[in-house]
Amino acid sequence: MAIEARKPETQEEARRNFRGGVKPIWCPGCGDHAVLAGLSDALAALGLETANVAVITGIGCSSRLPGYLSCYGFNAIHGRAIPIATGVKLSRPEATVIAAGGDGDGFSIGGGHLMHAVRRNLDMTYIVMDNGIYGLTKGQASPTTPMGVRTKTTTTGAYEEPIHPLQIMLAYGTTYVAQGFAGDLRYLSTLFQDAIKHPGFSFVDVVCPCPTYRGGMEQYRTLKAMQHMLTPDNHDESSWEEAQRLAREPGVMHIGVFYRERRATYGETLTHLRETALKGKPAPRVEALAEMYR
Ligand code: SF4
Ligand code: MG
Repeated sequence: MAIEARKPETQEEARRNFRGGVKPIWCPGCGDHAVLAGLSDALAALGLETANVAVITGIGCSSRLPGYLSCYGFNAIHGRAIPIATGVKLSRPEATVIAAGGDGDGFSIGGGHLMHAVRRNLDMTYIVMDNGIYGLTKGQASPTTPMGVRTKTTTTGAYEEPIHPLQIMLAYGTTYVAQGFAGDLRYLSTLFQDAIKHPGFSFVDVVCPCPTYRGGMEQYRTLKAMQHMLTPDNHDESSWEEAQRLAREPGVMHIGVFYRERRATYGETLTHLRETALKGKPAPRVEALAEMYR
């Protein structure tokens, strides 16, 4: 049964509509609370209707997200948010589709899906709540746990090099790559709005502390001290090389849009091919198609 579309009178009412009535069971201070608040605020600010938004997640603490929103949602199996979200977008191209989850769900169990969503440039947003730990299963090292950090599975300190999500997503060819911080809620909403508006696959890695298994609330202070905002005045968003450099700069946590590029989305390509075929014309050369939306 379709969710009945509601026309809120104020943005606050719209935000409340997206939040639904279920109280999150995340630990106090968990960064996931900020992502829920920032996302519901962004969806309301964009004037979207709950009936036209779908949030798809995998498994993990952060993947509880759809349960706390009143738009369409699906809690997939571990690591499979992206393929499910792909199916939703292909079957309902007009819907705003958001895939979300944690660092383990996205970069370990579901890591193989990312490059394919990226190369298709599907018009969706992927939000990773990156806390560098498996929180739901009580504190094992994840793919983004920094070297030296003690966890339940690295009791003398993690000895493996972590992966670097921003660098990987840039290397895959993602057309929008950004980083947010759960300690900066106001900006998180702004960033989500920008990412959702991007025509193509937008990726937002949210540095999202897990106070329970990654060092308490002190993390917020430590990260805040490392925070540096990227703006069009201090960073050229069209420079892939500069984005790669900033993604790995030691001692600094850059927040904002690292890279942005306009390319034909999967949906635009399909539409163009369909219209061309219906007119009885030969399919356009691949190069021409790629250039069409630059
Ligand atoms: Fe958040 Fe960590 Fe608690 Fe999970 S265990 S809800 S990630 S603080
Ligand atoms: Mg995690």
